[in-house]
Amino acid sequence: MDIITGYSRSTIHEINKLILLKLYTSKKNVNRPIIDRMNILVTGGAGFIGSHLIRTLLLDHSVTCLDNLYTGNRSNFRTLLSHPRFTFIEADIVDPLPRKITNTTFDQIYNLACPASPVHYQARPLETFKASVIGILNLLELASHTGARLLQASTSEVYGDPIVHPQPESYWGNVNPIGIRSCYDEGKRAAETLCFDYERVHHAQVRVARIFNTYGPNMLPNDGRVVSNFIVQALEGKPLSIYGDGTQTRSFCYVTDLVDGLIRLMSLHTNPGPVNLGNPNEFTMLELAEKVLKVTNSSSTINHHSLPEDDPKVRQPIIEKAIETLGWRPKVELDEGLIQTVGYFSKLSL
Ligand code: NAD
Ligand code: UDP
Repeated sequence: MDIITGYSRSTIHEINKLILLKLYTSKKNVNRPIIDRMNILVTGGAGFIGSHLIRTLLLDHSVTCLDNLYTGNRSNFRTLLSHPRFTFIEADIVDPLPRKITNTTFDQIYNLACPASPVHYQARPLETFKASVIGILNLLELASHTGARLLQASTSEVYGDPIVHPQPESYWGNVNPIGIRSCYDEGKRAAETLCFDYERVHHAQVRVARIFNTYGPNMLPNDGRVVSNFIVQALEGKPLSIYGDGTQTRSFCYVTDLVDGLIRLMSLHTNPGPVNLGNPNEFTMLELAEKVLKVTNSSSTINHHSLPEDDPKVRQPIIEKAIETLGWRPKVELDEGLIQTVGYFSKLSL
């Protein structure tokens, strides 16, 4: 409740939006675009994907980033701290949400808060599972009380080591519930369940993106995922570490394509159910290593290491649903995306 006006915060927020809309549609501004500036919360915004998403959202909206900085990087948002429409809050989504968050009315919430690299989520399996289950519960409560729309960053890992290939959204997956990847895979599956139950029980507005392997600038050099590992190793002249024989496949999506897909999904007025977001071009890890060596012009050799437990053998999204419902398809192919990503890592002092 606002002590001066006596209106609730959400009413004031709605009135402000109407005033803004009126300003932009008044006769004087008749040729100006109508900008409906939104108040957006991005949890996990200091991480790799979040840093790109926030920069895009800030072009039109106000953004609050909440992050516990486990795998987030301060340099991803340091330059934004002076931006008048950006706020950073260091907090964990597993804990009761800070007052600064519960006292603000958000139009949209993007939940990206979860370590995404196998190295990092396996180092903290309990925190990962809690972030996926308790964290999303906290955010769903916030969303259903305030009417905010919530987008959950889910993952192709919900398909596990898939028996159906390529993977449509209708596939229920093949996931080990007790293995070293389970804290992440089962956590994300439980988070999807909670999203759809909150929709059924509390009429929460939810959107679920099943993200396939995404890469690009702002990944941490020690992130541990394959693209950043290979690039850093090639640039340092060290052998590229291939796990297993390298015939396992992944389909790599460049981060700007992914951000475009996330924003389109969030903008939909009705929930289309889970949507795969990824680039359907599939490569073996050996093919990826060759491409990285070529782009970096590196003479590094290749070393084979043992394959981690439960490592999925194949992964490729069917993206017809994203094409039809979002009008989205990826534009940046792997060769081009690798050039951009290598350019980024080359400028870091590794
Ligand atoms: P990332 O590790 O770079 O970013 C995750 C961010 O969440 C980090 O800033 C981290 O500090 C923060 N975080 C972790 N636990 C938290 C908690 N309990 N409370 C608050 N903040 C917390 O990973 P990313 O690649 O940017 O992935 C972002 C999201 O997208 C994740 O939810 C991930 O599961 C999902 N995703 C990513 C990929 C991919 O290939 N990059 C694929 C599928 C799904
Ligand atoms: N991988 C690899 N070398 C590395 C890191 C990963 O060969 O240095 C393999 C890993 O075993 C998996 C694939 O690359 O088969 C993708 O791994 P990543 O950790 O990037 O993502 P995942 O899709 O497994 O979550």
